[in-house]
Amino acid sequence: MKRTPQVVSEAGLPERVTIYEVGPRDGLQNEEAILPVEVKAEFVRRLVDAGLTAVEVTSLVHPRWVPQLADAEELLAAVDLTAAPRMPVLVPNERGLDRALAAGVREIAIFASATETFARRNLNRSLEDQYAMFAPVVTRAQAEGLAVRGYLSMCFGDPWEGDVAVDQVVGAGRRVLELGCSELSLGDTIGVATPGHVEAVLGGLIAVGITMEQIAVHFHDTYGQALSNALTAMRLGVTTFDTSAGGLGGCPYAESATGNLATEDLCWQLHGLGIDTGVDLAALVETSSWMAGQVGKSPASRVAAALA
Ligand code: MG
Repeated sequence: MKRTPQVVSEAGLPERVTIYEVGPRDGLQNEEAILPVEVKAEFVRRLVDAGLTAVEVTSLVHPRWVPQLADAEELLAAVDLTAAPRMPVLVPNERGLDRALAAGVREIAIFASATETFARRNLNRSLEDQYAMFAPVVTRAQAEGLAVRGYLSMCFGDPWEGDVAVDQVVGAGRRVLELGCSELSLGDTIGVATPGHVEAVLGGLIAVGITMEQIAVHFHDTYGQALSNALTAMRLGVTTFDTSAGGLGGCPYAESATGNLATEDLCWQLHGLGIDTGVDLAALVETSSWMAGQVGKSPASRVAAALA
């Protein structure tokens, strides 16, 4: 049984990329089974041991919003936040930032919306007012020496509004970066993007002076497009990719078991292209299989299934 792809590289691609693992936060947040904090801590440890250098640990939103992550403080106390170069937590407001600082977190992520409807539904703010809500969080986080990543949701389609204009995404992305975020993660929250669309959005950002070093892409595999979209983004210079181990986490806005692009699926593609990820694929598959047992379903990842 073949355990690794044959390496055939492609000119113009990076030698190394960053995989930003979202399984413990974005993945588990969308799983029904509530896991014990020890299991989550072991998950984070195993992901770091498998070579992932960026692992988003949890979310400091109000426990009532996301019951799965209500144990955030306990989890942050149980994991070594210096084990990997980046171990961010999601923070919605200044109260969340206070909790992050108290827990010794070194990087936070805020989450904005590219559409009016999702801003109102997810943040209870208008599209315009969301920036004012996040501004003091980012300013204070920076003053405390924390790195800040900005997520932008619904960049390629919105479940209520349908199509989202490229110009609108470019404008919102620019505003998030202007708050002081060092990285902008473009979310295809419902997984509807296709490669030409990815090229249009990234081209729009480049046209207003945003560099691809500032960009991460967060693709969902709802319609099977995530790997094509990731390759398209990488050919345009993107080197940071959000994925979840095993493809953990369904999609809350579509009747689909498929959520985040699976870390294993992206790794197989990158390793075949001769691109260094630092990830030990066998160790990762073992971790995803173990986690699948914890949440009571098999991994959505095709590579994890083939290698398990
Ligand atoms: Mg996601």
